[in-house]
Amino acid sequence: MKRKRWLNDRLRLLLTLELAVVLPAAALIVVSVLHLKSIQRDRNVEAAIQRDFYQVLYISEKHLNKQLYEMADDMREDFPAAEQPCSVSSAVLDKALAAHPYIAHAFLYTPKNGLVTRSQPRRLQEEGFRIEADDFAKMLNGWIGMEFDSDKQKMEAMARKGMNYMSFVNWAPRGDKKLLYEPVAMFLTKDENGKTNGIGGVAFEAEYIRDRFLPEILENVMVRNLSESHNEKNPAVLMVRLRGEGSMLAASPGWDGGTPEVERNMDGALPGLTLAIKLRGTTLEAIGQRFVRISFLVLGGLSLLLAGGIFLTYRAITKELAVARLKSDFVSNVSHELRTPLSLIRLYAETLEMGRITSSGKAQEYYSIIRKESERLTGLINNILDFSRIEAGRKEYDFRETDLQELVRNTLESYRYQIEQHGFTFEEKIDTVPSLRVDREAIARSLLNLVNNALKYSQDRKYIGVNLYPSNGAVKLEVIDHGIGIPDSEQPKIFEKFYRVGDPLVHNTKGSGLGLSLVKHITQAHGGQVSVDSIPGQGSKFTITLPVNQPAQA
Ligand code: ADP
Repeated sequence: MKRKRWLNDRLRLLLTLELAVVLPAAALIVVSVLHLKSIQRDRNVEAAIQRDFYQVLYISEKHLNKQLYEMADDMREDFPAAEQPCSVSSAVLDKALAAHPYIAHAFLYTPKNGLVTRSQPRRLQEEGFRIEADDFAKMLNGWIGMEFDSDKQKMEAMARKGMNYMSFVNWAPRGDKKLLYEPVAMFLTKDENGKTNGIGGVAFEAEYIRDRFLPEILENVMVRNLSESHNEKNPAVLMVRLRGEGSMLAASPGWDGGTPEVERNMDGALPGLTLAIKLRGTTLEAIGQRFVRISFLVLGGLSLLLAGGIFLTYRAITKELAVARLKSDFVSNVSHELRTPLSLIRLYAETLEMGRITSSGKAQEYYSIIRKESERLTGLINNILDFSRIEAGRKEYDFRETDLQELVRNTLESYRYQIEQHGFTFEEKIDTVPSLRVDREAIARSLLNLVNNALKYSQDRKYIGVNLYPSNGAVKLEVIDHGIGIPDSEQPKIFEKFYRVGDPLVHNTKGSGLGLSLVKHITQAHGGQVSVDSIPGQGSKFTITLPVNQPAQA
């Protein structure tokens, strides 16, 4: 019946643990794994960084355009007014070019005066540059007049949208026939009434664009990007290349080659170029994989912790359940044990009271039974009181210098009669041992508990031996019997509170399961220990070991 209730409790506990903890925990783990898998499948991490990259490229292009237009604006301020004689325009343009070395060529076209093209005067001695200047002038001559009206319309439409320049690329030849990228910005010139009267334009120095302008701006953008990013090991790096053919024009410091992650074709001030971005030393795919791997590892670790926690909780609760069961057994054991001496005392006291006992020998025997039973009662109650003090942490010991030989001898003396009356052979061997600081009452109670157990758990071979002797800086007190013994598996458990071996032989013997747990507590308080050596069916030996220089605990 009791066992059935305990099984029910266990079942209830398992169900509660399953429903309240294991199921939600498992659900959490499964949902997290699915979520991580979806992050992995949809490349969410990569996509998030890519979005950032698009943003960086967009801002970089804006920056490049703004800078180049500002430089064009500077030059424009020094431009000659349109519709002046060619000679005047040429002189003014030459002066303006000298003041803006990053401009290679400048031109001004009016339908009235035609085209004036001037090139950087300082460089005209270089043959390559002279060829470039001639080509540029020829190229403009070829179409500017014809396309003036359509260009004008286009640029007026652009101006209405706030764009003051229209750009195209001049491929500047150099000595070895290499063509260099040279952006040209065209603008409309106005008369004093604000009416368009011509087209002006500036071509930026190809080497200046390639070697200074682009690298400086890219570095600038990257430094800003670095200070915003937390990934210092793998910062984003930028490069600019020609659209289509792909050869690189310039890159930010730290560009380490490889395939760019995101690209953006530029128009505006730098048509025909492509901006590209990637991470130095790694790829977005690797970052995504690393994120998922680390997340899986963390999730695995947390799941293990969770499983460990559930296991520990389960163990703790099972243990509590077992203690609860032992406690209820304990109550019935103790009540049983209290009842027997009490009814005996009552029975003999009543008989004496009625005065029916005539022989004084008989009366004496009854008195002695009453005394012994009350002694047993006192012993039991002392055990329970001690135990409750220990449980409440209120047990105090009174350590005094004690002659152990005398203490053991006296304790056994008061018990000897009872032992021998039960038909036991009793042997004591008490050697000289150093005197120790102990709590006499507690040590005597420990000894009595052990002797009492030897008495209780012996059947046909009735023998009790008590030895006291010094050993390796300690004093040993042994209680030996030839009783029922204790199986190996039970030996560590018998020192736990309430624990009784589940053997029918034990079950038929009265007991509370407190005795040995008290002995253990008392010896430990003395800095010592208690151990058992036992063979089922042959007997047991309990040994209390007390160190000679034990710490005096209050
Ligand atoms: P109790 O004797 O009141 O049951 P104890 O704490 O003194 O409680 O002992 C715990 C258990 O250890 C006993 O129930 C018994 O099963 C076992 N035990 C203790 N002493 C002996 C012994 N000398 N021989 C065999 N078994 C013993």
